[in-house]
Amino acid sequence: MSEMIVLSNGEGLVGMPVAAKMLLDKESSLKTVEEGIKQVELSPRVTCVGLGGTPNLLREVECDAAIMNGTTLECGSVGALEGYAHPIVVAKAVMEKLPHVFLVGKGAARFAKEIGAEPANLLTEEAISNYSSWIKKNNIPENIFKDKDLSLLPYANLSANENLSKGTTIFLARDSKGNIAGGTSTSGWEYKYPGRLGDSPIIGAGLYVDNRYGGAACTHTGEMTIRAGTARAVVAYMKKGATAEEACHDAVDDLSALKRGFIGTVVIHAIDAQGNPYVISTEKTDTLRYCIWTDVSLEIEQKKPVMVD
Ligand code: ASP
Repeated sequence: MSEMIVLSNGEGLVGMPVAAKMLLDKESSLKTVEEGIKQVELSPRVTCVGLGGTPNLLREVECDAAIMNGTTLECGSVGALEGYAHPIVVAKAVMEKLPHVFLVGKGAARFAKEIGAEPANLLTEEAISNYSSWIKKNNIPENIFKDKDLSLLPYANLSANENLSKGTTIFLARDSKGNIAGGTSTSGWEYKYPGRLGDSPIIGAGLYVDNRYGGAACTHTGEMTIRAGTARAVVAYMKKGATAEEACHDAVDDLSALKRGFIGTVVIHAIDAQGNPYVISTEKTDTLRYCIWTDVSLEIEQKKPVMVD
């Protein structure tokens, strides 16, 4: 059985080598998660996190991130943060420096500046060009957003959102001391309504870790995992004796009870207190992968999640 593990989603691949090395070097799971996510935030090829992330309807890149320490149950989050290279660093500073756990918007940006976080323009040429193509395809005049009621746009139609891409990076890690930490970072749904928060920065929805039982982090339709409290539920089911696998299936049952509202795919990544992993997707798809490294395999592997029938 492995002692140390790093589990991330497909988007996390670029951060896995650093994370694995850090655990081997006896760094804490908390630091490991932060550094792994920083690599993903820096990569313009990951178009749903940090630099190169997809903008909202107003063409602004609004980032969400969270981090949680499973030893102390301390956590920190930022939501709708604009203009900083590493939302995860700001989230960690919220946890470490403030009596609060969650800052959003202007307050989050003000705090980022005060702690000397690295400013950055996250909107790449490629993201601008994709945005322009999207609004042309939807026959939306390029500059109407500032004055129009956005709820009048086709966007407000739930089914019109089905093809919008979503994405996040999540990391869960267990270090040589058995301490578990988790983190998330995302620019959220592409072309989301300004100010929209997904599950990634919401502790209990997109992320929850507790050394005593394990940890969970979710990707895809945050609107659903917020409604079902998914990450917290997985850990609570493990507390009640479920394995990571059983806990994930129980959480999928909870998700399938959701009626109305926007219903889409959810992927749950979990590890138990000993670091045994389980990853499940509520939708069958050939392309989905997660990344895993353990001190038994010593290799970064990409695997397919279990798919719900
Ligand atoms: N869960 C993220 C959100 O709702 C998106 C994703 O992971 O695909 O913002």
